[in-house]
Amino acid sequence: MSDRDQRYDKLFEPIQIGPVTMKNRFYVVPHADSLGMGKMDEMIAYRKARAEGGWGTVCTGETMIHETSDHAPFVCTRLSSDDFIEPMSRLTSAIHEHGSLAGVELAHVGASCPSWSYRQHPISPSAQFPRLYNNPVGARKMDKKDIAEFRGWYTKAAKRAQKAGFDIIYAYCSHDLSLLQDFLMQRTNKRTDEYGGVFENRVRLIKEVLSDLKDAVGDTCAIAFRFAVEDRQQPSSLNIREDGRRVVEALADIPDLWDVNVSDWAWDSGSSRFFEEGEQETFVSFVKQVTSKPVVGVGRFTSPDAMVSQINRGILDIIGSARPSIADPFLPNKINEGEIDRIRECIGCNACAAEVMNNTAIRCTQNPSVGEEHRKNWHPERVPPAHDESKNILVIGGGPSGLEAALTLGKRGYQVSIADAGEEWGGRLVKERKMPRLSAWGRVVDYRVGQLQLMPNVQMYLASPLTADDVEGFEADHVIVATGATWRRDGTGRSHLDPVPGWDGSQVYSPEEILNGDLPEGDVIVYDDDYYYMATVIVDKLVSAGCKVTYVTSAAIPAPWTINTLEFDHIVRTMRESGVEILVGNTISSIEETSVHVTEQLTGKESRLSSNAVVLVTGQLASDSLYYQLQQKQEDKLVNSLERIGDCVSPALIAQSTHDGRLAGISYGKIDTPDEDAGAG
Ligand code: ADP
Ligand code: SF4
Repeated sequence: MSDRDQRYDKLFEPIQIGPVTMKNRFYVVPHADSLGMGKMDEMIAYRKARAEGGWGTVCTGETMIHETSDHAPFVCTRLSSDDFIEPMSRLTSAIHEHGSLAGVELAHVGASCPSWSYRQHPISPSAQFPRLYNNPVGARKMDKKDIAEFRGWYTKAAKRAQKAGFDIIYAYCSHDLSLLQDFLMQRTNKRTDEYGGVFENRVRLIKEVLSDLKDAVGDTCAIAFRFAVEDRQQPSSLNIREDGRRVVEALADIPDLWDVNVSDWAWDSGSSRFFEEGEQETFVSFVKQVTSKPVVGVGRFTSPDAMVSQINRGILDIIGSARPSIADPFLPNKINEGEIDRIRECIGCNACAAEVMNNTAIRCTQNPSVGEEHRKNWHPERVPPAHDESKNILVIGGGPSGLEAALTLGKRGYQVSIADAGEEWGGRLVKERKMPRLSAWGRVVDYRVGQLQLMPNVQMYLASPLTADDVEGFEADHVIVATGATWRRDGTGRSHLDPVPGWDGSQVYSPEEILNGDLPEGDVIVYDDDYYYMATVIVDKLVSAGCKVTYVTSAAIPAPWTINTLEFDHIVRTMRESGVEILVGNTISSIEETSVHVTEQLTGKESRLSSNAVVLVTGQLASDSLYYQLQQKQEDKLVNSLERIGDCVSPALIAQSTHDGRLAGISYGKIDTPDEDAGAG
């Protein structure tokens, strides 16, 4: 019997979607995984884990209907030929095994497709300039024959999807990545025939495709329409909610399911630094007033109360999720079993998106099993049992890597001790979570500490800076060093392999000092040679403390890595709106008391900027001295077994730290065959 709180009963009511019934209101919306047809086993295992965790529907990512929709180098699934039916039917069987519905997002990405793989000319309602990812490939205008063929491709792909066993079949019109959206939007549709011009003409092809799909597969499959009701990136294009509303009114009850969001991806999957949970409500709330068909939407929902509220207030019928389902595939089951404290909440960091943007397998900061369900046979919840429960393991460092290692080992049943020098658990996150807009990142710590505190076989020691002699005295069977890293003070980094002249002046700050709350005043230069979040978060902090900030970076654009986390536009916009001067492509060549000399990277041109203070955000240094001391003790047979993980190996993303922790936790006691990894538990 379920132990769930009755307040959440609503989330577990079945719902009819066209000819199919979904067992509850939890829906994994289509999302990219960078696994695709090339890594089908990985892809199946990844999606299957979400079905096992209780999601009523699990969808694919973009699934291309034709070769002209070639999103390479991005990795997608395909139903553009019969060859893909068999692998896709393996996916639907895996999803059905757990009583979930399988959805497929049939897509054509139109002008957004550079066609690097299939080498066809991209197609579009009107001839278009190159659109996406700086590729120099324009799209040709479709003629009437092309439009008829396009409808045929959609229908054929839908029939293949039906054969493969999908229950819900999509037409895709979102993220500024869709041919149907190109037809709809004035800015991309300049046609003068019956498919262009007035609204009724621009919506015509969508109507036709939806009717085609209903005729072709509507007997057994639900037809879903994924629609961005708002294009927030280019507000003039979809004419704000008025056009979005007109589309919903025009199509109202044609699709069996409305899957609504906003464009483009950087707005739909906004990071927690810039977007709150449920942020899309303002934009999508009208949809249910217009259609009688079920509506699914997203909002990085991790709170069951927020989910129930969406349904009770008539905003959504079904709770859509990509990132919360990535971070916790078992979120529905945990709500059902009354274990909401065990939900591993998404932190909204978008490290998952970053992997997709880099065309590598999906990963997650919170959930290290993501993308490793098949390759390493890692399960989101279960771990193999201890090979010997009497073994005692000492973990030194309570940051993301140490906490995850202790949690995995604790779950396995070992005797675990974890010690940290600090007064609070979390390592780097103790301070980072207190920086502007990063509070949600603290969930990495809260989830793990909450679980560890419930384990009788885990002892936790704060304010315990351990020396090598302390560790020797502990006589652990295994020692895991997770002592992290610290930010460099001397300006060494990508651009300077030697310290920057003048780095030791009293007006020069490292990120450590800012994180400790030691802030400069007046005109401050923040120098970014790191390229991710820290420099711009410090900018935020200093601006709110009243400093006049100049952001200087050696990169050609500000914080370039944040393009991958979909934060770049929001970061630059925020800096500009708060009056921050931005200087790109310059390195700091020397620092003086009231000024800084910068050198333009490409030309060597020097200039001088006045400042009261400088913050050098250039790189981190592994805190590995304890590890090396222990290595010596191990050689002297004074320490049994030793390894190091996380930032003290080399500083990286938090996602690397949690992965390292999980790997160390799983590997102890050595499991040789991957089949044993997931074990019972
Ligand atoms: P990671 O991301 O690899 O987990 P962090 O820097 O977040 O690394 O965490 C490292 C933690 O290790 C910090 O909380 C720090 O206080 C702790 N630590 C470092 N050296 C020692 C030590 N000698 N004894 C106990 N804790 C330590
Ligand atoms: Fe959420 Fe970050 Fe995991 Fe993505 S990587 S699902 S944003 S915690």
